[in-house]
Amino acid sequence: MKQLQLDARSDFALRDSLFSLRALIDSEKPKATVLHIYTAGGTFDELSGVCASIDEIIPEALYLGATCSAAIGPGEYEGSGTRIFATLYYSEGIRAEVLHFPYVPGDVAPCDQTDEAIVRALEDRPWAQGAELFCVSGGEQRSGYGRLLGSIPERITVMGARAMTPQWDTAAGMVFSNCGKVERRSAVMLVLGGPEIEFCVSLVSGWSAVGRRCALKTSSRQVISELDNLPPVELYKRYLGFENDRYFLKNAVGFPLLCTMKSGEQALRSPREVMKNGALAMCADCGDFETAAMAYGSARKIREELYRGCAALAAFSPECIRIYDCELRRAYWSSEHIAGELSPLDSVAPIAGMFSGSEYIRPAGGKFFMVHNQVLLAIGVREDHGKGAAARSRGYTAPSEPRGVLSIEDRLVNFLSEATSELEQANARLRHMAATDSLTGLSNRIAMREALNGALEEGGSWTVVMADIDGFKQVNDTYGHLCGDQVIVALSKLIETEFAASSLRYRAGRYGGDEFIVLSEGEPSLVLGIVNAIRAKFSALKFDYGCQCTLSLGLAPILKGDDEDRACRRADRALYRSKGLGRNRATLWEADEA
Ligand code: GH3
Ligand code: MG
Repeated sequence: MKQLQLDARSDFALRDSLFSLRALIDSEKPKATVLHIYTAGGTFDELSGVCASIDEIIPEALYLGATCSAAIGPGEYEGSGTRIFATLYYSEGIRAEVLHFPYVPGDVAPCDQTDEAIVRALEDRPWAQGAELFCVSGGEQRSGYGRLLGSIPERITVMGARAMTPQWDTAAGMVFSNCGKVERRSAVMLVLGGPEIEFCVSLVSGWSAVGRRCALKTSSRQVISELDNLPPVELYKRYLGFENDRYFLKNAVGFPLLCTMKSGEQALRSPREVMKNGALAMCADCGDFETAAMAYGSARKIREELYRGCAALAAFSPECIRIYDCELRRAYWSSEHIAGELSPLDSVAPIAGMFSGSEYIRPAGGKFFMVHNQVLLAIGVREDHGKGAAARSRGYTAPSEPRGVLSIEDRLVNFLSEATSELEQANARLRHMAATDSLTGLSNRIAMREALNGALEEGGSWTVVMADIDGFKQVNDTYGHLCGDQVIVALSKLIETEFAASSLRYRAGRYGGDEFIVLSEGEPSLVLGIVNAIRAKFSALKFDYGCQCTLSLGLAPILKGDDEDRACRRADRALYRSKGLGRNRATLWEADEA
């Protein structure tokens, strides 16, 4: 494969360049030709002209592109204007197709129907190996983490970015392609496939958490309304001293939030707008995140990560590299230093791409389609195992890692992030201790109350089990407290293993003394089987001096309108009946018991 840059400085130059490309295609006969157009400031009419010229001179070429804040290519890094790259693929069996997805007007979540169409299109193309996606939307409503776009077939590497304008307007961006021409509010996608094509993804961040993790609440998909019950602007003020004034966003450029999903997946989110109530509108969706911590990247850390990414790409020996670099990184580096971000990549393979509004990635085999802010995505592409001329000619040597005396900034950031992580670990240990029964390791009464409340909130079918060892006072009196402890620990292990072996969600706890409580998913009649197995196995256990015990249990459902006390009382009543009926049995609560 081969990547060439066309001269797009004027209409005339472009046509000239297209005719040269025409001649090259005619003589070398590549199997596919794809043009990428990245434009900063191109108007609708100018872009329509570019499309018409390509259609006329190379009608068989596929093309797609997007508006951006600056185009990225080899040589000059502070690219303004339009850059057009032609990629020529030569391998047998290569397939390429460009698709266009208009947003459906009036769709409640504007991207949902588009995302479904994207997933379907990729499912319908069993040859697809990679997909490049450019989108424009009013807001970043791309809610597909793990849900819609996450279900794209696993073998496919999905990459892309959100269009924007040099004025940082993401709603006024445009995308264009050989099938949809120039469009607003649309997505365009290049699908690449074939046995010879391969991709290698490098995600370069450099930012890491320096603050503690806060619980995150949103008021709409892009607006963070609270961090640990405070307006996020207050946290920026408390920790960084930012005033809520017109400099806030400028100050915040180096300090995005590192957000974490329940599944552990992380992405940076940068503030886009300060709301009156101290809430922050971010540059992309935040709806799927649970926690957020303030993050910082020092120049040294960012560079270290960049070099790591370059080394990984160099080992892959790509023939070209697609780059989606966050506009905020350009703002962070400023035009003076942005070359440091791109030239190491350019020395691995020819680069082409843009500074974008947010960056999309779902590497092959990955679980989530992630939307990022503040990252640099570099995706190496090669066909025929990178045997092409482009890969051979480069000879990348890694820049030496910065060594020597660390800057004060690096030392402080290191101190801060270590201290925060130590405190977080200590807090986690304390939280665990406060919720755990020390003898058995099961949940304690406080934690069980929380679990019960959680189940009440979630709704659905739940059972409360109360269990109490029969004649346990006697065990203590006869065999001693140590033997009694042994019995309690053995029973707790049995409860855990038997419930863990079921497919039901459950939480087991020690209610106090010789009394245990289990909250389990499912109807009491379903849970009864597990409970009876525990009872039978417990009565068969032999402890020191031949001590043996039995167990009585009561099971009751959680009912609509319950509070945790009522649900427990019901199960307690059933347990009491088990005791009254002669012990060593499990009894279901009956409705007439009230
Ligand atoms: P019943 O069949 O009616 O339940 O009779 P019981 O003797 O088991 O009566 P009860 O449940 O009221 O007795 C609980 C006993 O458990 C009393 C207490 O001394 C003992 N106990 C409470 N906590 C512990 C503990 O941590 N270790 C030991 N070894 N004994 C405990
Ligand atoms: Mg007892």
